[in-house]
Amino acid sequence: GVRVGIVGLPNVGKSTLFNALVEGSRAEVANYPFCTIDPNIGVVEVPDERVKILAEREGAAQAVPATVEFVDIAGLVRHASRGEGLGNQFLAHIREVEALAVVLRCFEDPEVVHVEGAVDPVRDLEILEVELIAKDLETVERRLSKVEKAARSGDRAAGEEYRHLEILRRILSEVEPLRKHREKIPPETLEYAFRTLFLLTLKPVLWVANLGEGDLPEGRENPHLVRLAERARNEGVPLIPLCAELEAQLAELSPEERREMLAAYGLAEPGLWRVIREAYGLLNLITFYTVNEKEARARTLRRGATALEAAAEIHTDMARGFIAAEVINFEDYRALSGLSEARKKGLVRLEGRDYPVKDGDILYIRFKV
Ligand code: GDP
Repeated sequence: GVRVGIVGLPNVGKSTLFNALVEGSRAEVANYPFCTIDPNIGVVEVPDERVKILAEREGAAQAVPATVEFVDIAGLVRHASRGEGLGNQFLAHIREVEALAVVLRCFEDPEVVHVEGAVDPVRDLEILEVELIAKDLETVERRLSKVEKAARSGDRAAGEEYRHLEILRRILSEVEPLRKHREKIPPETLEYAFRTLFLLTLKPVLWVANLGEGDLPEGRENPHLVRLAERARNEGVPLIPLCAELEAQLAELSPEERREMLAAYGLAEPGLWRVIREAYGLLNLITFYTVNEKEARARTLRRGATALEAAAEIHTDMARGFIAAEVINFEDYRALSGLSEARKKGLVRLEGRDYPVKDGDILYIRFKV
């Protein structure tokens, strides 16, 4: 599954946000037998009207949206990389997630202590980055000292590894996250950094600006947010302003009450929905759909994946006996009464195994057993 870690300094609203996420869009646990009972992991449904419409029109008994797992990761503080605070435990958690949602405090509240003395999300961001960079540098240098000797004595594999490590060390020792320099890093080095070293600063990030209630809807008057937004633009990082406390309240309401409360604040939708969607986007994922009388189901696929890979995502037998995929995109389907009308009008195409699946495709796989 897709896993996103929620990180940030203490007292910035991580748990408030995590609880709102889990409360507001908790997935039916019965649907996810793999779901652990770890209180720091929440399986959250991806808000998706398309799967609901599909289930309704095709008379499927239920609509099953795609899910994202959020992990509440505490312990990232100044000097955490040197073992202060919760020390190194949080690192193991960060290694296991595919992306990071960094919560940055933009709200002022004298009742809530700031560990650094005052509200300053840009400084907080730098503290977090420095810790992660320090950890990556430590990983790289430890490995360098292991392969150095073999590389010098002419061992080819060690020599290659040494070259990758040197490239990574150069960036990290300028106190820069690898993520920002992806374009300059050769693909083989990137592959190595991901698969062998599990480096932290390569993981895609999104920033969540935790506003005060009074700053809503957009926080334009909040000077902290203004500075953070400029930084986000420069670095090409998605920035999502929201108020974690309000999100927590929204999560407890019925859909009807929620709409009213959102309207009262001038908001179009819960900020959390954007967090979930952006996390999906960060990871370059698309959604495709399958439907039968039992269920309409949203499924997750890497962008660019083929019909054969989509079939494998549904069932290995479908991939093994793959014949063809019947395809219609949801945007074409939307205007119709359902799949039977689409078939009658010849709008369902037949595609082969190499067809690159598009976001919103509704697939029916033909296969032989
Ligand atoms: P964590 O340590 O990052 O997990 O932070 P918590 O979620 O436990 O929040 C720390 C404190 O800040 C709690 O007392 C929250 O009620 C409060 N808090 C969280 N979000 C907001 C917010 O948007 N506005 C205000 N005023 N307080 C908040």
